Amino acid sequence: MAVKIKTNDKHIQALAEIVGSPRLILFHQEDLIAYDCDGFTLHKHLPKAVVFPKDTQEVSRLVRYCSDNDLPFLARGAGTGLSGGAIPVNGEVIISLVKMKRLLSVDFENRRAVVEPGYVNLKLTNSISDKGYYYAPDPSSQYCCTIGGNVAENAGGAHCLKYGVTTNHILGLEVVLPNGDIIDIGQNGIQDAPGYDLLGLLTGSEGTLGIVTKITVRILKNPEAKQTVLAYFDKVIDGSQAVSDIISAGIVPAALEMMDKTAIEGVEAAAFPVGHPKDIEAVLLIEVDGISAGIEEQINQILEVCKNRNVREVRAARDEQERGRWWANRKTGFGAMGAISADYLVQDGVIPRSKLPEVLSRINKISEESGLRIANIFHAGDGNLHPLVLFDARIPGQSEKALAAGSACLQVCADVGGTITGEHGVGIEKKEEMRFVFNDEEIIAQTNVRDVFNTKNLLNAGKLFPSPGRCVEIKKEMKAAAAQ
Ligand SMILES: Cc1cc2nc3c(=O)[nH]c(=O)nc-3n(C[C@H](O)[C@H](O)[C@H](O)COP(=O)(O)OP(=O)(O)OC[C@H]3O[C@@H](n4cnc5c(N)ncnc54)[C@H](O)[C@@H]3O)c2cc1C
Repeated sequence: MAVKIKTNDKHIQALAEIVGSPRLILFHQEDLIAYDCDGFTLHKHLPKAVVFPKDTQEVSRLVRYCSDNDLPFLARGAGTGLSGGAIPVNGEVIISLVKMKRLLSVDFENRRAVVEPGYVNLKLTNSISDKGYYYAPDPSSQYCCTIGGNVAENAGGAHCLKYGVTTNHILGLEVVLPNGDIIDIGQNGIQDAPGYDLLGLLTGSEGTLGIVTKITVRILKNPEAKQTVLAYFDKVIDGSQAVSDIISAGIVPAALEMMDKTAIEGVEAAAFPVGHPKDIEAVLLIEVDGISAGIEEQINQILEVCKNRNVREVRAARDEQERGRWWANRKTGFGAMGAISADYLVQDGVIPRSKLPEVLSRINKISEESGLRIANIFHAGDGNLHPLVLFDARIPGQSEKALAAGSACLQVCADVGGTITGEHGVGIEKKEEMRFVFNDEEIIAQTNVRDVFNTKNLLNAGKLFPSPGRCVEIKKEMKAAAAQ
């Protein structure tokens, strides 16, 4: 039976027929506004429509329709991405996966679970914790971001230092390719399976190679014990030396986080203050976990390291409630910037840990030169730095200044041997900055891979790689030469 909607657009009508209900498609401007950006709010574009498929077959039929009719399209999870990956820059049809949100199965014996892509990250841990298991990747947005979005961005989190990022926990994927074909990859976690490592390729490909419709993930047994230490440093250099000393001592903390003075001002002004002193330059949050027997010794080692680095105050959490408060304070760190600034831009560089003092001093300089405050939140253990550029979009010129300051921070990261993203992806936000770390040939090698999957480049076009530019020219020259 035809789906009754008021439109003269044959494509909208056809898409509505595929999802089978007027409630599963949005196409009026007032509805589309909610989808004009993701967590990167500096660019906004309206999609052509938003459709909500209920299963893989519907995703496949939607994709095939878009491909056959040359309609640009992209996948969207919760829309918390911070690099603009889900922004419909070409007026895409957005295929929202939020209705595909079931936990399909849990296999405790083989330590794996199968979820649909719209399943919210934290729900997985909440669903299996009573049996003593959890899902390790814990982005700070885990209370609302989807595991499909995590796969696309290869999301990280505070506890990824010891346990690895999303790619280390994905055992299998069902994927709808950009022509509508459905494939299964990963052979359910068999180590060193034959053929190319398509799981590795798809994970972190930012929704440019296919739409993930089913995910098999690794689940872990809860550690027997965990303990968290908080350390205040008057000088940021002492805090960063303590980070290096902890790792050099052979301790692998589950998490090792740092916030600087401006970040502390933000988290203390927001919803979960814990009483951090406002005059310190750095706070470290260090968590160790494992078998109970080894925890106390590691905590003593950490306390000793911090004392040797002139710590002002250091102590372990008194109980689970205090530990929970410290983590709530840290994990809401980005949003907390809203308490001290009208707008903020989150950056996401990676640096060698040893370069932290130099990088922070160069970021301070960028802050002075731009006239914008920059707070720093840092997954210190793995060198993933988040400069948060504070600005006010209502003041003419400030958004542009913020973007330029963010880009300058990434240039600093690249200069010291790091890179331009640790976990938030490139999206549209950092695509020009890809040139800081890749030359034309290296970018072409990657876009050639994309072109094999995404032959018509209708799926999430204009993301991840700089365009147009010299690369496009070189590619044209290569094609012309091959045709002769
Ligand atoms: C407050 C806050 C804190 C954050 N903290 C962290 C953090 O600690 N670590 C971290 O890594 N990130 C963090 N993020 C960024 C963001 O939450 C992650 O990138 C997350 O993985 C995005 O998931 P999503 O469901 O919101 O995806 P979306 O934003 O909807 O999409 C992100 C990208 O994935 C693609 N995509 C979505 N679903 C699919 C699918 N099923 N198949 C193929 N492609 C798909 C989209 O096309 C887009 O390119 C944070 C964001 C916020 C707002």
